[in-house]
Amino acid sequence: MKDFILLGATGSIGTQVLDIIDSDKNFNLLGFSFKSNLDKAIAIIDKFSPKYVTVKDKEHLKLLKEKYQNITFFLEDEGLCDLVKIKEDATVINSLVGLVGLKPTVCAILSKKDILLANKETLVCAGDLINKLVKENNVKLLPIDSEHSAIMQCLKGHNKNSVKKIIITASGGSFRDLDRCNLESVTLSDAIKHPNWSMGTKITVDSSTMVNKGLEVIEAHHLFNMPYSKIETVLHYESIIHSMVEFKDNGIIAHLATPDMHLPIKYAMYYPKHIKGFTEEIDFTKLSNLTFKKMDYERFPMVKLAYFVGEEGGILPLVYNTSNEVAVSLFVDGKIKYLDIEKIISSEVDYYKDKNVWDFDIDYLLDFDKKLRESILKKWS
Ligand code: NDP
Ligand code: MG
Repeated sequence: MKDFILLGATGSIGTQVLDIIDSDKNFNLLGFSFKSNLDKAIAIIDKFSPKYVTVKDKEHLKLLKEKYQNITFFLEDEGLCDLVKIKEDATVINSLVGLVGLKPTVCAILSKKDILLANKETLVCAGDLINKLVKENNVKLLPIDSEHSAIMQCLKGHNKNSVKKIIITASGGSFRDLDRCNLESVTLSDAIKHPNWSMGTKITVDSSTMVNKGLEVIEAHHLFNMPYSKIETVLHYESIIHSMVEFKDNGIIAHLATPDMHLPIKYAMYYPKHIKGFTEEIDFTKLSNLTFKKMDYERFPMVKLAYFVGEEGGILPLVYNTSNEVAVSLFVDGKIKYLDIEKIISSEVDYYKDKNVWDFDIDYLLDFDKKLRESILKKWS
């Protein structure tokens, strides 16, 4: 029996992880967390009978404690760490959205648990610290993000020295066919209509601004220890090629599959095995086209900015990520216009670029993140 602790069980990735746990009698959901979706959390408890649950809201806790007396409950952000610190052996799947995922990732590593990471924000903001902790504690950290799962599979069995570059594909998101002048008046409901993937709100908005691709470039740098000069992005509308690795002999290995997150999640959960199920096979005879376009930094300035903050390092990747998290939540709440998202990120990066800090620990990052959130909210709410 393999036990899993699932952070963010009620989300888009969390739900697909549960499909996989449900499909294998040797998998067990030992514990999970949720934030607001009480009905879904109750359905998960009834179906999977976990031993531990982390709850964000005190009212939910009261209700659940009365209903389920055999479950150990933990509360709020600290409860995310309490959950991953339980003494039982388990693999932690982090499918939280945002930098709230950082502390529990650190706690999981320190309690010697392997981690399957969907929560890219953690690596973007604290990649060097996380890699150091992973090494010191001798745990495994595997990506769930489809591009990074693809790259990991393309690199398998190959010497890193023979890699010329990593090529990350990008669908272009909901507004890929619009010029910048048409972005002025787009709405949230337009932004969350992704052409190829069904995902949580934040990452779908991030895909449309291409901040998501920017985050993925930084994520790839940390996961594969690649310099930014060897990480390229290319527009690929169909999301069939999930990413590629080009070798020094100009040969390329690409990972192709129908766009379905079950595949990279399953690969991480069964690593290094490829197990059948869920994802439909590609019928090449029905694939009319695989299209590619050079990444356009003028149309998608957030990708270019991600390379800048990544190269600079220090706290700049966190500034990029946190200002995006706050800006997207303001946009989702109808408080700012779509293009203000880019404005907020650019102005914060611009402000901090001459005040960068390179020597810090996790507590410093979390404190900086909190203050930055407060200051952006004050300016824009
Ligand atoms: P969702 O918004 O669908 O789900 C987020 C989950 O985290 C939910 O369970 C939510 O609880 C919980 N949560 C949100 N905020 C908090 C908080 N402050 N404290 C505790 N729990 C919280 O996100 P996705 O599943 O789309 O994405 C998760 C991560 O995976 C992100 O980092 C994303 O970038 C990455 N990713 C996602 C992909 C996808 O296909 N969705 C693809 C590749 C990467 P509740 O719903 O109960 O409020
Ligand atoms: Mg991705």
